[in-house]
Amino acid sequence: MDVNSNIIVGGLVPFTTIDYPSKMSAVIFLQGCPWRCIYCSNPHLFEFRRPTQQDKSNWQYILSLLQKRTKILDAVVFSGGEATAQAQEIIEAIKDIKQFAPHFKFGLHTNGCFPDKLEMLLPYIDWIGLDIKAPCKKYEQITKVKGSSEQAFSSLNLLLKYNKDFEVRTTADPTILTKDDILEIAEQISKIGVKTYAIQKYRPVDKNNPNNPPSTEIMQFFTDKEFEKKLRELIPNLTLRF
Ligand code: SF4
Repeated sequence: MDVNSNIIVGGLVPFTTIDYPSKMSAVIFLQGCPWRCIYCSNPHLFEFRRPTQQDKSNWQYILSLLQKRTKILDAVVFSGGEATAQAQEIIEAIKDIKQFAPHFKFGLHTNGCFPDKLEMLLPYIDWIGLDIKAPCKKYEQITKVKGSSEQAFSSLNLLLKYNKDFEVRTTADPTILTKDDILEIAEQISKIGVKTYAIQKYRPVDKNNPNNPPSTEIMQFFTDKEFEKKLRELIPNLTLRF
């Protein structure tokens, strides 16, 4: 097997049913993210660095693992970190995988921070999960990066322009977002043609921190039937993921 990609992998989940719709997938977490979200559970993936010989070995190991599981898996998902930072490496990685698994689908989880790189990747990707983290006015409170909402919405517009199969998802962080904020996002994305939306449960970075919000605050987005009804009126294909 030819191994061409210089991809820098930060982690792997070998089997999952929840990261690509209706498919058994492996998730490859890629190194490097320019944002600093307050609820990030993967801070070890922040750092950007150059590939090493160890990265090459890691990729060879993952390829051999995927090759053994071509009958069990249907898809490979690139996640992060911010996967699109390694767009060219992903394209090469997909070519590496297709040598032994031409039937695999390819998914991408992205925060949308590199619209140009995303556009380059789209022809190779079958399904995308795009974070829209907040209404524009609150975006930087979550990402800690100026201009992040513009980047994310540019990426969303690309997915619509190319008619891709995708889901928009928002992590319902009760320390920043209210139900009205989430309704504002739903209204905004519904207007431009988004068909699939997921609200994801906030998970505190440090479970034992006494300052974490109580579970009633975390769960308020999933237990309020009136709120859910309003969301479904805007986007019928809604998933409450908790
Ligand atoms: S975009 Fe994702 S990986 Fe990057 S800081 Fe935010 S939560 Fe973490």
